Amino acid sequence: MVFPSEPEFEQALHELTTSLEPFLAANPHYKKALDVVQVPERVLQFRVVWEDDQGVPQVNRGFRVQYNSALGPYKGGLRLHPSVNLSILKFLGFEQTFKNALTGLSMGGGKGGSDFDPKGKSDSEIRRFCNAFMLELYRHIGKDTDVPAGDIGTGAREIGFLFGAYKKLRNEFTGMLTGKGLNWGGSFIRPEATGYGVIYYVEHMIAKACPEYSLTLPSTLVAISGSGNVAQFTALKVIELGATVVSLSDSRGSLIAEKGYTKEFIQEIGQLKLKGGSLESLADRSGYTYHAGKRPWTLLPTVHIALPGATQNEVSKEEAEALVAAGVRIVAEGSNMGCTEGAIAVFEASRKANPKGVWYAPGKASNCGGVAVSGLEMAQNSQRLAWSTEEVDAKLKSIMTECFNICYSAGGKWSGEELKEGTLPSLLSGANVAGFIKVADAMKEQGDWW
Ligand code: NAP
Repeated sequence: MVFPSEPEFEQALHELTTSLEPFLAANPHYKKALDVVQVPERVLQFRVVWEDDQGVPQVNRGFRVQYNSALGPYKGGLRLHPSVNLSILKFLGFEQTFKNALTGLSMGGGKGGSDFDPKGKSDSEIRRFCNAFMLELYRHIGKDTDVPAGDIGTGAREIGFLFGAYKKLRNEFTGMLTGKGLNWGGSFIRPEATGYGVIYYVEHMIAKACPEYSLTLPSTLVAISGSGNVAQFTALKVIELGATVVSLSDSRGSLIAEKGYTKEFIQEIGQLKLKGGSLESLADRSGYTYHAGKRPWTLLPTVHIALPGATQNEVSKEEAEALVAAGVRIVAEGSNMGCTEGAIAVFEASRKANPKGVWYAPGKASNCGGVAVSGLEMAQNSQRLAWSTEEVDAKLKSIMTECFNICYSAGGKWSGEELKEGTLPSLLSGANVAGFIKVADAMKEQGDWW
C-alpha cells in the first residue's frame, strides 16, 4: 500500500527501527509488535472555525492522534504552530508513547494541536480559538481516556481557556488536562518540570562521562537553544547549580552571552515571550551578541554541554560537527527529535570512537520530566490533593534517575556494540529498546498482537 509521505514520522520510525535491530535479531517474535505499534490507534482530524477581532471567521485544522493506550490513558501535548500537520503530530505521538513508558507511570501516548498561529493574536482571539477547538475535542478526551497538555504555542493561558471551555461543555470539573493553574488543580513544578528534568538526567550523564564538567562549576559552558518554556527552565536550573549558560535562541536568531546569562535576564525573556516578543529586540544589550537567522551551535568557540530546547531537527550534521570541534561532551535533547539523523550519527560515532567523545541522550529519555510531572498532576487530581514543591521535585528527580538507569542498562545490553574499555553505552538504543519492550509487552498481554 502507498501512503502519503510523512517525513518527520518516517524519521522517528526509522530511528526506532534501527535501534531495535539487535534486539529484534535476538527476539524475532517482537517484529509483529513493531508492525502494530507504529499504527496509531486513532487519528482525529477536525475543522476549527473561530472569529477574529474584526468579526471575520477564520478556519484552521485541528488534530488529536491517540497513538497508544497500552500503558494508560493517551497522554501528550497540544501544539499550536503554523507548521503543524499530521506527519509532525504522528512523530510526536509515536515518540510520546515510548517516552511515557520510560517514566514508569501509567500513561499511554498521544499528541494533538492545530496549524493556528498564536503569535500576533489578541487574548480574545486566543480565547475564541480555544473555545472553538474544544467544541470538537471535548467529545474525545477525559481524565481516564485522553489527557492533553501544553507544547509549542500552548502555555498556561491556552490551557486555562481550554479547561474553561471543556468545563462548560461537560458541566464537570475534572483533571482532563495537565499544566493547569496552581489554584485550580495544577501541580507545583509542572512549568519547570521538562527543563529541570533535562538537567537531572544530564547530571547523571556528567557523573559517568565527564565529572570535570560538573554543573556546579562556573567554568562549565552550557549552550541552550530556544527561549520558551523548556529552554527557560533548563537555563534557570543550570544557573542555580552554578554553571554558565552561553546561549539561547528563538525562531529568528540566537543571543550569545559573553559572560553567561543571569537569572534575572532569563526571567525578563520569559516576560517578553509571554507577549510574543523576539530576542531580536534584545540585540543591543551589552554583554550579548545577536546573530539573526542562526542557531547557536556554530557560534561558540568552546562548549561542554549542548541542550537543544526549541523544536525538531534543530541540529544538523554540520552543526553537530561544529559542536564536536568546540569540545562538546554531552548533548541531551529538551526538544523532541531535536537532532537530525545526520547529527545523531556524528555524536554516536564520536562516542564509539573515544571514551572522551560525545554522549547523546534522545528527547524521549532526557525530556520525559515534563510528562512525568503531568502524570503526577493526574495522580494529585484523582486524590483531590496537592503535594508540596519539595515532594514533586523529589519524585521528578527519582523518575529521571530511574529513566537514566533503564536507558544505561538497556543501552549496554542491546546496542549491538562491542563496548571497548571505558566506552559509554548508547542511550539512544537504551531508550528506544527499553521503551519499546515495555509498550510491546503490555500490548501483547492485552491481545493487541500475538
Ligand atoms: P514554547 O514555549 O512554545 O517555546 C518554543 C521555542 O522554540 C521558542 O523559543 C520558539 O521561538 C522556538 N521555536 C519554535 N519553532 C521553531 C522553529 N521552527 N525554528 C526555530 N525555533 C523555533 O515550547 P516549549 O514547550 O518550550 O517546547 C520546546 C520543545 O520541547 C518542543 O520540541 C516540545 O515538543 C518539547 N517538549 C516540551 C515539553 C513541555 O513540557 N513543554 C515537554 C517535552 C518536550 P519563537 O519564540 O520565536 O516562536
